[in-house]
Formats: sequence, C-alpha cells, structure tokens
Amino acid sequence: MMMNLITLKKIKQMINIPFCKPYLTNNEISYISTVLDKKKLSGNGDFTKKCHHLFNEYYGFKNCLLTSSCTDALEMAAILIDIHPGDEVIMPSYTFVSTANAFILRGAKILFVDSRKDSPGMDEDKIEELITSKTKAIVPVHYAGISCDMDKIMLIAKKYGLFVIEDAAQSIDSYYIDKNGNKSPLGSFGDLAAFSFHETKNIISGEGGMLVINNEEFKDRAEIIWEKGTNRSAFFRGEVNKYGWVDLGSSFLPSEITAAFLYAQLEQINKIQKRRLDIWNLYYERLSYLSSKFSIQTSFVPHYSTNNGHIFYIVCNTLNERTDLIDYLKQKGILAVFHYLSLHKSDYFEKLHDTRSLVQSDRYSDCLLRLPLYNDLELTDVNLICSEIINYFESKI
Ligand SMILES: *Cc1c(COP(=O)(O)O)cnc(C)c1O
Repeated sequence: MMMNLITLKKIKQMINIPFCKPYLTNNEISYISTVLDKKKLSGNGDFTKKCHHLFNEYYGFKNCLLTSSCTDALEMAAILIDIHPGDEVIMPSYTFVSTANAFILRGAKILFVDSRKDSPGMDEDKIEELITSKTKAIVPVHYAGISCDMDKIMLIAKKYGLFVIEDAAQSIDSYYIDKNGNKSPLGSFGDLAAFSFHETKNIISGEGGMLVINNEEFKDRAEIIWEKGTNRSAFFRGEVNKYGWVDLGSSFLPSEITAAFLYAQLEQINKIQKRRLDIWNLYYERLSYLSSKFSIQTSFVPHYSTNNGHIFYIVCNTLNERTDLIDYLKQKGILAVFHYLSLHKSDYFEKLHDTRSLVQSDRYSDCLLRLPLYNDLELTDVNLICSEIINYFESKI
C-alpha cells in the first residue's frame, strides 16, 4: 500500500510542464564577460550598437533604440507624439496595462476598441466610429505576433491625420502581407513601434525592449529623450561641443550587460523561431480536431499575416469550462494559463470608461487559454498536452 502511494506520487511528479521557460543560447555569459572585461557597463556601448545593427540588417529598422522595457518604449512614444491632457488615443481593451498606462501618464483619454470575433486583435472596423477632433493616435496591438490589418489601419490614420504607434511587444520576426503579396515586418508601419524582450517573449534579455522610429521627424528627439533629455549622444559623435539638458527625458536605455544578453539571443533568432513554430504547428495540427468536432476556436492566422509562434491559444465556451480545463490540466502536471482581463473593466479604468460593452474582449478575458510554449518543450509533451485537452472535451459529451 505504502509502496503504491510512493509510486503514484512519483508518476505524478514525472510530468511537470510549466507554461513558459526562458531559453538560453549559452553565449549570454560569454558576451556579458566581454562587457565586464571592457569595464564599460552603462548603456549605449558596443553591444547596444551591435543589436541596433542586427535589427537593421534583419528587419530594415534603420532607427531603433534599445530600452529597458517595452513599457519604456511606449512611454517614449507618448512623449514623442506630444500627448497632452485632453488628447484621445484609440487602442484595444484586450491588451497589457502598459499599452494604456504609457498614454494615461501624459494625460490622454483612452478609447478602447473591441476585439475581432476570429482573433483577439482589435476590430479594425470599429476604429473609425471612435475618432473625434481630439483623437491623436491609434495603437494597434499585434496579439500573439499576429498582424492587425495594417492596410486598413494605416488608411484610417492617413484619412484623419493620426499617429500610429504599434505595440509590437509580441511581434518579433512576424510580417504583414499586403494585397500584392509583399511582406513587411511588424514594427515597420507605425510612426513608432515598441518591442519587448521580457523573459516571456520569443527573444529575451530578462527585462528589455526597443523603440523603432519609422517617422524620421522623431529621430533626433527620440535619442535625446532616451538619454535623459540631454544631447549626450550627439556630443559623443562630435556633433556638438558640449552636452546639456535640452528636452524632456528619462533613463530609458538598458545597460550593456542587458544588451550583451540580447545580442546572444538575436544571433540565434532563426533557430529559436524555427523551434517555436514547430511546436506551434503541432498544436495547430492536433487541435484542429477541437474546432471541427467541438466548435472550439483556436489560434487563427489571417491571410495577411505570418506567424512567429509566440502564443498558441484555444478559446473555451465559458469561463466555467476554462476554469475546469485549467484544473484538469493542472492535475495532469500541465500548466495552461489565461491572459488579459479587459482593461475597460479593470478597477482602475472602469469609472473612466464610456458605457460601450466590448463583448469579444470580455469573451477572450473569460475564455482564452494559452498552452505551454517554449523552446525546450518536447514534441512528445506537446502531443501529450493535446491528447489531454481532447480527452477533456470528449469526456464532456
Ligand atoms: C509584454 C507586453 C508589454 C510589456 O512589455 P515589457 O517589456 O514587460 O514592458 C506590452 N504590451 C504587450 C502587448 C505585451 O505583450
């Protein structure tokens, strides 16, 4: 009897699949050692420049600045487009708090848009009705690295003279495909775009981010805001003979230690992406059965987007069903997690929201479930997770 209990316990412990596990290339330590040897630890040194160079080479981001986080990059964007109290900004409700906070910190009024029925991204057809004479910017969030319909959004922005700030936190190495089949990287559309290298993203540096400056008008000022409001960078390039306080700013740049870590990751982006996509594709293949047999919505990639394997999700029918499935999987040693809670219903924002109900955003808040996805996840484990999920739904009929 005792023996049996122990064996049972052991079996239970054998399967232990976390939701996320940071991937290391093993070059991180050696590049950080290089930084330590050079005794140049603060920001905007060799590794920062090497990262900027790689982003230009890979994605044609001519002007980009590493930041301490995507949150920082979004805050820089809000300063750059000169958000003032009374300005209105349009963004999805189904997103991370930083998307909204960055603009609220500068006094903006946020108008939240509902999500699409076929995916958690913002419903592009519901943007135009929210535009007023006070609207200053649209902030599309490419949820799960799946592109918003950028032709539609850019057309609206052009028609009303609005800035576009892409929250590209999850969008590294993903592309929008236009009508003629041309691919452009996410983060190359907006006047500005913000990426994240938080440990839960595809390419990581612990905490980390990047601002991409596509509108040349913002290039010089972005660098000043990045360097605490000083023209220090221009001074070190020999463009001015002293440096001082010339504008608003903050300490947005990461240390060289962080940049060295990021560089190690960036060098292996193809390997990292391939593995994530292999896992994502296996989920998609195995779980297509759920959508055909049980009408369960799963991750969707529209024809105008590529996929970067950032998130694989399924959407349960009800909150109860999702809670039940999370518990079921937990008992099997599998950690699956929900995602955002509609920002328009948050404690902080509820009183500021107009009365519009955002049905799809609430549905994803209640029903979306993200499955484990990280580079070291074995395909046999992916198969096991899929079998358990299918078992769960089959046992309910
Ligand atoms: C992760 C994330 C952020 C925040 O990124 P940090 O680097 O942690 O500041 C912002 N927006 C979205 C959509 C995200 O997924």
